[in-house]
Amino acid sequence: MATYRLASGWNQCLPRRQPHPPLGENLNVDVVIIGAGFTGIACANRWQALDPNAKIVLIDASEIGEGNPGRNSGFLLEIALAEDADPSNLSTMAEANRLTRAAMGTLSDAVSMFGDPSDLHRAGTYRAAASDVGLSSLAKYETFLKAAGLTYRRLSASELKQELGTDFYQAGLYSPDCYLAQPAAVIRALASTLPKTVQVYENTQALSVTPFAGAWRVQTPNGRLTCQKVVLANNAFATQLGFARSRMAAIYTYAGLTGPLSQRKLAELGSNPDWGLLPTHRFGSTLRRTHDGRLLIRSLHDYEKEREVSSIERALKLRLQRRFPQLNPIEFESIWGGAVGFTLNGGLVWGELEPSLYASCGCNGGGTVKGTLLGQLLAEHALGYEVPDVLALFGDASWMPPEPFRTVGFHATSLWQGWQGRHER
Ligand SMILES: Cc1cc2nc3c(=O)[nH]c(=O)nc-3n(C[C@H](O)[C@H](O)[C@H](O)COP(=O)(O)OP(=O)(O)OC[C@H]3O[C@@H](n4cnc5c(N)ncnc54)[C@H](O)[C@@H]3O)c2cc1C
Repeated sequence: MATYRLASGWNQCLPRRQPHPPLGENLNVDVVIIGAGFTGIACANRWQALDPNAKIVLIDASEIGEGNPGRNSGFLLEIALAEDADPSNLSTMAEANRLTRAAMGTLSDAVSMFGDPSDLHRAGTYRAAASDVGLSSLAKYETFLKAAGLTYRRLSASELKQELGTDFYQAGLYSPDCYLAQPAAVIRALASTLPKTVQVYENTQALSVTPFAGAWRVQTPNGRLTCQKVVLANNAFATQLGFARSRMAAIYTYAGLTGPLSQRKLAELGSNPDWGLLPTHRFGSTLRRTHDGRLLIRSLHDYEKEREVSSIERALKLRLQRRFPQLNPIEFESIWGGAVGFTLNGGLVWGELEPSLYASCGCNGGGTVKGTLLGQLLAEHALGYEVPDVLALFGDASWMPPEPFRTVGFHATSLWQGWQGRHER
């Protein structure tokens, strides 16, 4: 299923929005883009700009703001994720970062035009370690930042306590190269930049994508789209349509957001009123304090299956309370899950997968800004423009073993890595 059990807490903070009606007829068009997320909207915008006569349809299984683009933690990184940082490959990384920063401009322009300035600001990001495993990955990241000439600040445990109000961590780094967002507001703003000529259908899930008489057919619950070109911009769910199954899997992760905390509780937090912190271990937890006084935690991972609701709240609360015991009891206003397109080597599923079928999937947990860039480049590529060598810059997803070996492998790796990173959870 491309929809989730629980509503996005970010989207619930916003006023209700009137979605575009679902598709209810059969249409013949030039291009169908599946997924109105960062990737799909950016692709539609660029495609229409380059080919104004193209009849483009953009469909989404959910409502804009309610799907995965509106349920992430809102870190819009201008540079590579720490996990992808490679000090031995600085020129490639510098080019990837240059392109990513340019794509960030697309998102800030969208928010300036159609959003509220508080929905997106360049607050930077902390990364912090609670154990030796985290400290060693922090040291590696610092080596990369230094070699790449990127600005950062080192923080001791007491500085982290003073700024963030938690003594959970032993050390940290602060990097300014990140925006913090209200993600549901940002994706709504990005969708508002679409030209009227792009036909959008929400609550319209692609059920199948099949070749048909030299063209493609996209079947949805109440209508069929026949098109010359089709774009898979539905990330983790492309495999459900039968594509990239040997290279990508869906990993579910979960978030909990409190309501605005009382002034008394806020006074027990640190001096920084608006921050984000990324973990130094794959199984660690992401944290945010928002400008309106809420706390967010993102943690936990499941392979290909969304977890039972009852256990999510308990686990997230425990992890948040461990970091902020002074705030007990902590209650969430909302909790939710979302799926990330995961590849074994962190590479992408990108390009023309089959004649006239294009894909940009496999975000690996960091595809808001990168997705925007890759969607734009995919449109250029499909229209025959010369584009940078995306797979050389961001990696090409490697082969994954088939089932049942893949599930067994994932659980074994999770157990091992989860144990290694147990103090970072
Ligand atoms: C809890 C959580 C926290 C995260 N935090 C961050 C973060 O802080 N920073 C960051 O960069 N990334 C983060 N991510 C990942 C981030 O959400 C993705 O990288 C980003 O949204 C990718 O954008 P996208 O447009 O490529 O794909 P997606 O956001 O996955 O969008 C795909 C769209 O396709 C639609 N769709 C799926 N299947 C179908 C179908 N069959 N038919 C029609 N439509 C379909 C979906 O409804 C969705 O709107 C997080 C993810 C989760 C789950």
